[in-house]
Amino acid sequence: MMTGSRPRIGILGAGQLALMLAQASKPLDVEVVCAGQPGDCAEQVAEVMPVDLDDATAVAAFAAQVDLVTIESENIHVDVLQGLNLYPNARAIGIAQDRLLEKRFFQECGIGTAPFAPVDSLEDLKKAIAVTGLPAILKTRRMGYDGKGQVRLRDLEDAAAAWEEVGGVPCILEGMVSFDAEVSLIAARGRTGKIVFYPLIENHHCEGILRTSIAPFVDENLQRQAERYLVVLLEKLEYVGVLAVEFFAVNGTLLANEMAPRVHNSGHWTIEGSETSQFENHLRAIAGMELGSTESRPTVMLNCIGTMPTEKETAAFPRLFRHDYGKEARPGRKVGHLTFPATERAAIEEWQRRLQADC
Ligand code: AMP
Repeated sequence: MMTGSRPRIGILGAGQLALMLAQASKPLDVEVVCAGQPGDCAEQVAEVMPVDLDDATAVAAFAAQVDLVTIESENIHVDVLQGLNLYPNARAIGIAQDRLLEKRFFQECGIGTAPFAPVDSLEDLKKAIAVTGLPAILKTRRMGYDGKGQVRLRDLEDAAAAWEEVGGVPCILEGMVSFDAEVSLIAARGRTGKIVFYPLIENHHCEGILRTSIAPFVDENLQRQAERYLVVLLEKLEYVGVLAVEFFAVNGTLLANEMAPRVHNSGHWTIEGSETSQFENHLRAIAGMELGSTESRPTVMLNCIGTMPTEKETAAFPRLFRHDYGKEARPGRKVGHLTFPATERAAIEEWQRRLQADC
């Protein structure tokens, strides 16, 4: 339904990324409505329509009620996305949701990656080990996130068990990279082709889950390299919206690990740390508005995994920003995050201990 000057933006998904997009929409002249399930956390701030995201007809019916559509997760089948007025476009999402297509696309764009090989059988896996060397990581091509769908191999004898553990689905095998740091770059590209970048972010993971993001990661050479790479990716994909790319920094160069065609967990600090958050810039980009300044202050974000500290616990830290997604506590689940100015060293260390984010 076209609504004239105030665009109605439909988000496929109603989790915490949709929640923070909806929060960022409030001062903008846009309306946000989500497709999800009753009880999804975006319900706290936006209308959530019950939609089965695997059902192309239901998604098309949702899309017909908004001016344009965006996503909060790349794991929606591309068949469901065809024919929608979608930002970013279905091609970009289709590449990002398949680790093999994604790695090949990085190569096509002249961006280095870990050595990798496709794996469709146990035989392939044994041959792939010859390409990647050991140790290596077997990753499912689709539906992998937060370290899910990944098995590490130390020697050849691990192959059969690893293949069984991933359930014999199409995979890629990647050589383990001995990295100096893990960093990500977040950019937004508007409809006119204008691109803005945030500073590089240093990320610390534990068991495949992001725990800590520190911005900025100061390295002018790597910042320039990463920006050059994102320009190529964004332009080749005719991309509109926020794109995040995760890299391994190795000996002064970057190897791309994966890209997220959406706002990204490593950019949550931009809510307090930047003139314009990644959420606002995504909405601005897809709605055809001018992009906002990415001028940023040194900031640290800690993820709350499993349980959320209470307001009483965080109240003693006046410069801490507490984001509770309102989700039920569950082991391994992202239920919220805390943001600090980077100068709050003692508080950050204290909370890294409490959240076991330094593991
Ligand atoms: P991913 O889901 O691909 O982002 O993997 C989750 C985390 O596992 C990464 O952030 C890294 O810490 C680690 N990891 C994944 N792939 C590799 C690799 N090829 N070499 C070293 N570490 C990796």
